[in-house]
Amino acid sequence: MKCSCCQQEIIRNLTFKELLFTFLIKKQRCDFCQKKFTKIPTTACPTCSKPGWQTQCDECKQWQMLYPNYEFCHQALFCYDEAFKEWIYQYKFLGDFRLKATFSSEIQAYFSKRKEWIIVAVPLSKERFLKRGFNQVEAFLQAANVKTQHLLEKKVDSTPQSEKNRQERLAAPQVFRATQEISMVKNKKVVLVDDVYTTGRTLFHAAEILQNYQPKEIQTFSLAR
Ligand SMILES: [Zn+2]
Ligand SMILES: [Zn+2]
Repeated sequence: MKCSCCQQEIIRNLTFKELLFTFLIKKQRCDFCQKKFTKIPTTACPTCSKPGWQTQCDECKQWQMLYPNYEFCHQALFCYDEAFKEWIYQYKFLGDFRLKATFSSEIQAYFSKRKEWIIVAVPLSKERFLKRGFNQVEAFLQAANVKTQHLLEKKVDSTPQSEKNRQERLAAPQVFRATQEISMVKNKKVVLVDDVYTTGRTLFHAAEILQNYQPKEIQTFSLAR
């Protein structure tokens, strides 16, 4: 079996169950790649997972003022540190599609508690999708067997968020629009998923569209913060 991150062979004995039912063999990381990433610590902002905060962080307080009717709740799995930046560079920017399964077990654990929820991946513009060849968020969700709904579209291929500074990001205009299927969110719980939470701008824009269709609750999720 290969490590879902560095792709090196992992040597371990399979359990009797795994030998009988090979589909039970889960994608996993080798010991080195397991230790490489830092989980979000317990001292993190309760509404956005920003590490190093005991209570709500200043960024969230600003968002709360901008969106007084949206009770946001974001959960991230890992810290956006050097190891994660290296991983996302290889996966998203160099297009190493094999890395889609790197965090499958953690993703499954999170979504197994949200069986009845509607899951929406932040979409790419058509242009970006054609350039990259895959939506990196859809791909890691699919690799973890998480079924998504296409309720949002990205309007234009704006400058990628990663090339803007914080002020430019926050001032960016709405980039999403609803698809025809969006009315299904009425009175339902929805999880919006992105790869990284940086300023929150992308997820707040996406949530803003969904909110117009009266979901019961919106939570957001990202691999890193
Ligand atoms: Zn590895
Ligand atoms: Zn926060």
